[in-house]
Amino acid sequence: SSFDQMGMKDDLLRGIYQHGFEKPSAIQQRAVLPIIKGRDVIAQAQSGTGKTSMIAITACQMVDTSMREVQVLILSPTRELASQTEKVTLAVGNFINVQVHACIGGQSIGEDMRKLEYGVHVVSGTPGRVCDMIKRRSLRTRAIKLLVLDESDEMLSRGFKDQIYDVYRYLPPELQVVLISATLPHEILEMTSKFMTDPVRILV
Ligand code: AMP
Repeated sequence: SSFDQMGMKDDLLRGIYQHGFEKPSAIQQRAVLPIIKGRDVIAQAQSGTGKTSMIAITACQMVDTSMREVQVLILSPTRELASQTEKVTLAVGNFINVQVHACIGGQSIGEDMRKLEYGVHVVSGTPGRVCDMIKRRSLRTRAIKLLVLDESDEMLSRGFKDQIYDVYRYLPPELQVVLISATLPHEILEMTSKFMTDPVRILV
């Protein structure tokens, strides 16, 4: 199957092709459709499989850019990965006017507050800083409909479990969750059963 059979926004398709992607990778083939149809998804996938681009594409499809509120929240274990996801989302979203902000440690809180105040559609961040910005009421959560937990096993091994649960508690009850992890240890399965409803499972 191809990107143009997925029912995505035309301007998003243009961005995907302009970015140089011709055909979806295996994870994109299997995960994009269920996600844009609103299903919870557990994807067991390593880096390099096209998972970052999959997240970027689905984030762009899910946002309503006529509404200046955070609608997609992506959590990653490192600042580098959160910034990379921001970058790819801006690239594939080149023609849909999507506003993306990387909410990561090591940057000024004031700058974060200004960006969030200006109004962004997608936040890609690390659990610590995102949790902080939510508690400061700078990152407003009421319009968030999709939570993506990228490299979940890595987030847990870096000690972010409590912050992830903290963030989750601030999100609306009607939340769609996508969890990506290279491995599925007990603590991840525990998270999936707390956060997710009838998830589609994908192994790539
Ligand atoms: P990712 O896991 O999304 O970081 O992707 C790994 C590498 O594959 C990156 O260099 C991407 O630009 C590239 N890539 C991801 N999806 C595709 C695709 N559908 N077609 C061609 N290259 C891709």
